[in-house]
Amino acid sequence: LEQHLPSEIRELLVGLDGFLLREVAPRAEALKDLLDDPHRLHGPDGRLHLDVMATRRDIRMAASRAGYYQMFVPTELGGGGHDMLTMYAVWHRLYRQQGMRDWLAFDAVAHWATGPSHLMSLYTPQALDAYREPLMSGDLSMCFAISEAAAGSDLWRMTTTAERIDGGWRINGEKQWQTNGPYADLVTVFAVTDREAARARKGGISAFVLPMDTPGAGVASVIRLYGRSGSNEATVGFRDVIVPDWSLVGAEGDGMRIGLSGTGLGRVYNSARAVALGAWAIDRATEYALLRQTFGKRLIDHQAIGFSLAEAATEIMAAKLLGLHTVRLMDEGRPALAEAAMMKSFSTEAAVRAIDRAAQALGGMGLTNEMYLQDAWQEMRAVCISDGSAQMMRRLICKELADGRIDL
Ligand SMILES: Cc1cc2nc3c(=O)[nH]c(=O)nc-3n(C[C@H](O)[C@H](O)[C@H](O)COP(=O)(O)OP(=O)(O)OC[C@H]3O[C@@H](n4cnc5c(N)ncnc54)[C@H](O)[C@@H]3O)c2cc1C
Repeated sequence: LEQHLPSEIRELLVGLDGFLLREVAPRAEALKDLLDDPHRLHGPDGRLHLDVMATRRDIRMAASRAGYYQMFVPTELGGGGHDMLTMYAVWHRLYRQQGMRDWLAFDAVAHWATGPSHLMSLYTPQALDAYREPLMSGDLSMCFAISEAAAGSDLWRMTTTAERIDGGWRINGEKQWQTNGPYADLVTVFAVTDREAARARKGGISAFVLPMDTPGAGVASVIRLYGRSGSNEATVGFRDVIVPDWSLVGAEGDGMRIGLSGTGLGRVYNSARAVALGAWAIDRATEYALLRQTFGKRLIDHQAIGFSLAEAATEIMAAKLLGLHTVRLMDEGRPALAEAAMMKSFSTEAAVRAIDRAAQALGGMGLTNEMYLQDAWQEMRAVCISDGSAQMMRRLICKELADGRIDL
């Protein structure tokens, strides 16, 4: 990717590498036994071991002191205000070198849904006073609660409500799939505030920010994924949760637009890490295919394996170029709706295919915990669903195509 980046982004990446080496690698090493033992990593309640969570917080706070954690928060809020190309390059870098091996490194940069982000510019002055500093320092983390069991792709079907009461709102409902939900201190929750408008799919949904320990709010369950004993995802419940007026994020009724502005960033972040993980998997398979011999030849010289990796490399290269093109359009202030949808669906699906091909080329080795390919596959497989599924992306591309807005 480097060759496509201006020198200031390349320098920033060098600084980030140094930070990861100094601040993250020793912490990961200290926790190695725990991180490498799936039986100990999660407790019986499905949550990550407390030592891992304490280290993740330490990493966030160290990264904040070094200026990396808040680098994508707008400058007017005290962040670095970096552009989309930098966002793409940074997330690519975090996943490219170690794949899923050093996942603690991913806490070095705030994710829009779980840390400080542009959404803070929509906070009321009281919410900014209460939450900005602890979010920016990495002391507190949050989760983003828009999806529900019966409202994922079709978010307008949400049933969580916020009813106006004297001086505030009363929130009721249950959300599902909240990333970082099991650990979050704060939550951004989306609720119907005007049933008629929401039914007509024209507003009527509002966003609120509140502490997870507000009476009536809390984690209902930790969702177990892929046969693991825990995960980063939770269901989050709200039962007669009373919040003050100042918890409203942005304008009343503007919640859907606000929510989608977040998932728009998610498309950049997910595409960058898809390209990085796909490339990392191809590297692992290529190294192996150059060494391993069967039937008197290196694996790479068996056309079935060599061509399979060649195809994967072609797709990942195409995904990278599509990604770079899209983030540049975004940095020029263009909507790039279709491009972002193409970038997200193509990159994530290409990554799944690349990781799968890599695993096949590695034979039995590809399935071992040692290679971390299954972690990469699981991560990418999930991203074909979250932040707008591949089908939702195609739906959007199709609409843009029908409206004549795609310049092929
Ligand atoms: C790992 C993970 C993390 C997540 N993190 C968060 C989070 O932090 N916060 C949050 O609020 N949510 C989060 N989500 C929820 C996520 O956004 C939803 O899972 C996603 O929107 C899909 O919704 P669903 O699971 O209800 O599937 P559904 O909407 O029921 O869709 C089921 C399948 O049908 C397809 N489909 C649906 N409608 C159509 C259509 N019209 N045409 C063609 N195909 C269609 C979908 O693409 C999907 O393949 C997360 C999900 C996952 C898996």
